[in-house]
Amino acid sequence: MDGAMTLVLGLDLGGTNVKCAVIDLAGPEPRVIARATAPNGAEGGEDAVLETVARLGLDTLGDLGAPAVAGLGLPGHFEAATGTGTLLPNLPGDWRGRSIASPVAERLGVPVHLVNDVRALTLAELRLGAGRGVQDLLCVALGTGVGGGIAIGGRLHIGSAHAGEIGHSTVEPDGPLCGCGNRGCLDRVASAEAIARDAGQPTVRDAALAAEAGDERARAAIERAAGYVGRTIANAVVLLYPERVVVGGGVAEAGDTLLDPIRAEVRRRVRMPPLDQIAIVGAELGSVAGAIGAALWAADQAGVDVPAIAV
Ligand SMILES: [Zn+2]
Repeated sequence: MDGAMTLVLGLDLGGTNVKCAVIDLAGPEPRVIARATAPNGAEGGEDAVLETVARLGLDTLGDLGAPAVAGLGLPGHFEAATGTGTLLPNLPGDWRGRSIASPVAERLGVPVHLVNDVRALTLAELRLGAGRGVQDLLCVALGTGVGGGIAIGGRLHIGSAHAGEIGHSTVEPDGPLCGCGNRGCLDRVASAEAIARDAGQPTVRDAALAAEAGDERARAAIERAAGYVGRTIANAVVLLYPERVVVGGGVAEAGDTLLDPIRAEVRRRVRMPPLDQIAIVGAELGSVAGAIGAALWAADQAGVDVPAIAV
């Protein structure tokens, strides 16, 4: 250990797994030097989950050294000032009002900054992934639910609290009830489960394969979901005019089978130039993006110097 590293730790707590990334900020660009995944231990209750998160962080750091700060991504909402949960419906257990940042910080021995998991993914793709080199980015993550994030002027935009919740845009006024309490959210009609169900396939990956093989029902299900996503992105584009739109999450693994009809719908709906300068691309960093972004968020919050990214 020559002391030349500036480590930040990123953790991403999901409904099933915890992911971890250790980033070194000392070089010309942030570098991911270790990563890991473990089951979240939800069967043991909330305390066990937080212990699992902290232990994965400590195990992944190993003898690399102590991080300057840590970030923790969460699948929902929290109160940043107190580090407590508010709305985490996709995480097994009762998290409302529960202290999350403090117990993990105590075990890690460094401050822990909370961030929404898709906002973290957005920051990671902006700095190190498919959004490299742009300042204004819209990110949409299609998975168990639909999440989003916005970057403006090279920084993650949080607004007064939860900016980026594109999944809770209303797309069917009388549609299915959403976990947020509204009806007809994009989250309910373009989730992995909704697409697989409409396609008559066990998973969204099977739905994509069936569509590519010419299955009409699967193709229609993907076109329908892509239409909803495309119209919602079109609405966001006319509002924000980002330079790039990144589509990530497990559903996005369907690749161009999904992205092409999304691009077509955005082109159909946004009739004001210059649309041809806005690229709609797949995410690049894979399933560890949330952990990477949580680390970068914590570095930003703590004022740790993050090297500028070469374009
Ligand atoms: Zn909703």
